[in-house]
Amino acid sequence: MTTHQVSVPARARRRSEPAAPQPEPLLFAVPDRAEPWQRSHALGTGVLIGIGLVGMVVCWYVGAGKLTYDDQVPWLVGSIASTGVVVLGGVYWLICAFRQVTGMERAVALYLGPWLSEAQASVRPAVSLAADELVTATGMGRAHRPHCLLARGKKNLRPVTAADMAALGLAGCGACGS
Ligand SMILES: [Zn+2]
Repeated sequence: MTTHQVSVPARARRRSEPAAPQPEPLLFAVPDRAEPWQRSHALGTGVLIGIGLVGMVVCWYVGAGKLTYDDQVPWLVGSIASTGVVVLGGVYWLICAFRQVTGMERAVALYLGPWLSEAQASVRPAVSLAADELVTATGMGRAHRPHCLLARGKKNLRPVTAADMAALGLAGCGACGS
C-alpha cells in the first residue's frame, strides 16, 4: 500500500480578517484506503503471529511424542508462550492503528488550531451583561451567571433581577454559584 503526500495549502486570508497566526502547510500521509494501517504494520504483525503459530505446532508435535508428564511440561509451557506471541501480534496490530490515528488527529488539530481559537473567540453570549448579573430563559427553573455552561446557547436568554427570581420562583445555580 502506497501513501500519497497530500499538501494542504494554508487557507487564503480574507482582507477584513485579523492577522491570525498562519500554520505551516502540513503534509499528511494519507493511506490509499480508509484504514490507519501501513504495510510495515502488517509485516510486523504477520511475523509475530507466524512465529507464534510455528512455536505452537512445534511444541505440540514434540510434546505429543513425550511419554512422561515431566517431559511434556516444557513443551506445554512453550506452547503457552507461543500463544502469547500470537496475542502480542494482535496487540501490536491495534497499537499501530491507535498511534497512527492519534498522530493524524494531532496533525489535524495543529492545522486547525488558529481557526478553532478564532471561532471560539467569536462566540459571544447572546446577552452582554456584567459578570454579577443573572440570566434565565423560558422553561428554566434557575437563574445563571451569563458565563454559566448551563445557560450557554439557550434561546430567549434574558436578564433577571432578584425581584424577578422571587416572582418567578427561580432557584440559584450550583454550577455557577448564582
Ligand atoms: Zn448556572
